[in-house]
Amino acid sequence: MPQMIINGRKTDAISGQMLDVISPVDGTVFTQIPRGDEADVDLAVKAARIAAEGPWKKFTALERGRLLVKLSGLILENAEQLSQLEAKDTGKAISSARNDIQVMARYFEFYGTAADKVHGEVIPFLNGYSVQVIREPLGVTAHIIPWNYPAQMVGRSVAPSLAMGNACVVKPAEDACLSVIRVAELALEAGLPAGVFNVVTGLGEEAGASLSAHEDINFVTFTGSNEVGVLVQKAAAEHAVKCVLELGGKSAHVVFNDVNMKLAVPAIVKGIIANTGQTCTAGSRLLIQRDIFNEFIGLVAEEFSKTKVGTPDMDLHCGPVINKSQFDRVNRYLEQGKKDGLKILAQGQIQAGVPDGGYYVTPTLFVADNHDSDLLMQEIFGPVLVALAFDTEEQAVHLANITDYGLMAAVWSENGGIQQRVAKEVKCGQVYINGFGAGGGVELPFGGVKRSGHGREKGLVALEEMSTTKTIIHYHG
Ligand code: NAD
Repeated sequence: MPQMIINGRKTDAISGQMLDVISPVDGTVFTQIPRGDEADVDLAVKAARIAAEGPWKKFTALERGRLLVKLSGLILENAEQLSQLEAKDTGKAISSARNDIQVMARYFEFYGTAADKVHGEVIPFLNGYSVQVIREPLGVTAHIIPWNYPAQMVGRSVAPSLAMGNACVVKPAEDACLSVIRVAELALEAGLPAGVFNVVTGLGEEAGASLSAHEDINFVTFTGSNEVGVLVQKAAAEHAVKCVLELGGKSAHVVFNDVNMKLAVPAIVKGIIANTGQTCTAGSRLLIQRDIFNEFIGLVAEEFSKTKVGTPDMDLHCGPVINKSQFDRVNRYLEQGKKDGLKILAQGQIQAGVPDGGYYVTPTLFVADNHDSDLLMQEIFGPVLVALAFDTEEQAVHLANITDYGLMAAVWSENGGIQQRVAKEVKCGQVYINGFGAGGGVELPFGGVKRSGHGREKGLVALEEMSTTKTIIHYHG
């Protein structure tokens, strides 16, 4: 049975309570995890504090970095086991899970090799003064992560924090946390001191809420829904704790009439069906210039209709969605699309032979006449793409920016002027030109604007987010 990792030890919840973990593949209980709560969170934060102020502080940046690189190597050595765990827990296709584990290893490699390259500054000041600006760890960092990419998220969030010398407490999602526990075990094997990398499993409203409200954390990074992100930020604000929020999205593809269709069509379809649409950056809105609308949407429909849904072992485009509530949510949106008068243009197929009781939804491509429907305004978090025509560049930018979200966008055109103007006008944290969602993008700063959140992860900027600046002003005459 999986256990939490607190202070370097595998442990059950103090209460002794467990939570069932349900397989999205067939809806049955396949394991149980400890139902950690406030008491377990408190133990983990105390252990992290002791580690951050004690043994971990003695490691040089180079030594910390080497441990992270060693952990990256252990992840790769155990990649198949981790991939199987991830696929079973989340329902995703085994090849996607394998890719996620490679990306997780890459995070530990990237930040491990960056740890000793964080330099300070010397600022010219008044005569008789020397001024240094150095970066220091924050102390104890809290990480609340979702179920859609547990392995990638733990790498993305924990690796930069450890590289900067913080100690972490991670609260993974109750729906999928097995790879997160396993990587914390591997961290111990790699030689990270006890208390540096803690994992507390449990319910969001118990373990998650206690962690974000804990008075002895110095930073919290949250990836998940907007509603919960707001709660986490409020809880952090009670103790003036710094908070990074990575929330939802409603990313738009803006396709102009000079698009390279061969390049765009498969990338657009992949961008919504990957991970069964359960990706915060999923390209769920397709804005197409009117004079090529029919031709372009015809090609998208042809590609979209090839989408196959099955179990992780079948290794198709889509697996089941994560749980019953997500299954109901996606199906509710499909019904609403019909009620709102949207036209279904293409659907994928659920394969014969998928087990009864699993959460398989039908990938669907809709066409809309206007941008009013909730299907275009709200995040569905499923394989549902809605297309709409636009006439001018100005209208396209207006539509791209019309939702509350601002995470990612893509502009498809061969015209350099359009590429640059639209890329600069769309309000979001990342924008692609003639592409979408390249690999894990570990090196590339990532995050949202508007209701998609604030703060940045990935890239070297994460090292700044997860550390603080100290200015040393030395008067020596
Ligand atoms: P969620 O907000 O329900 O859960 C996310 C995490 O928060 C889980 O670990 C959960 O246990 C915890 N949690 C729940 N209630 C809590 C509370 N009251 N206090 C503290 N923690 C609590 O989200 P979800 O359904 O797991 O994930 C889907 C959402 O995540 C989508 O909106 C998606 O767009 C977003 N997401 C964003 C990114 C990004 O990088 N921007 C990445 C992945 C997912």
